[in-house]
Amino acid sequence: MVACTCAVCKSNDKKDNRLRSSILISSPSTTVVIDTTPDFRYQMLRSNVQKLDAVVFTHSHKDHIAGLDDVKAFNFIHQNEMPLFANEETAKAIQRDFYYAFADKKYPGIPALELHVKHNEIFSIGDLHFQPIQVKHLHMGVTGYRISDFTYITDANFIEEQEKEKIKGSKVLVLNALRKEKHLSHFTLQEAIDLATELQIPNTYFTHISHQMGLHADVTMELPTGMHLAYDGLRLSIE
Ligand SMILES: [Zn+2]
Ligand SMILES: [Zn+2]
Repeated sequence: MVACTCAVCKSNDKKDNRLRSSILISSPSTTVVIDTTPDFRYQMLRSNVQKLDAVVFTHSHKDHIAGLDDVKAFNFIHQNEMPLFANEETAKAIQRDFYYAFADKKYPGIPALELHVKHNEIFSIGDLHFQPIQVKHLHMGVTGYRISDFTYITDANFIEEQEKEKIKGSKVLVLNALRKEKHLSHFTLQEAIDLATELQIPNTYFTHISHQMGLHADVTMELPTGMHLAYDGLRLSIE
């Protein structure tokens, strides 16, 4: 947190040092990022990402879309437009916030984007198949995604029963848990633990964590079996 001097913000444990939330998914042939955070450029540099086939968005909040301009590096490397997948509301926000990339007369050097609006249908990017899961972030609709036995859900504080059914059977769930205290638009740690328990997910990783959660090492000791705090640079393999 900018200008914060709390124990988490001053911690020497790298796992307490977080950039904004997103994930990179790779199969042998396809690489996709979910959300382009304000830290997107540095995240790509830090993880030495050489290839990006598409971007999939969860929602239009700035901490999930602001880094989009920097996909232009991949335009240059791959010599093609970057496909983007988003729901209608998010697509509109992208067209508004990055208006210059959609202008009739484009300034040279801006990102080349190819926007695909997806409602609730399964769609494929290469050999990766994305099943949208509709969740609520206060009154805003956010899209989570199930890819095979892996599910990614961020910025939720409510999930309807029929959408929960889509998550069941996942081997790994990444789920947002902001902090221990109640929040109006994010699950708390206990709410996230309860949901993972209810859905009987073998391994759940909590993400979109605030510095108010406490130290990674302390909170980790309090978690039930099969539940973990995610951290920057965490890599998971799904068979
Ligand atoms: Zn949000
Ligand atoms: Zn967020």
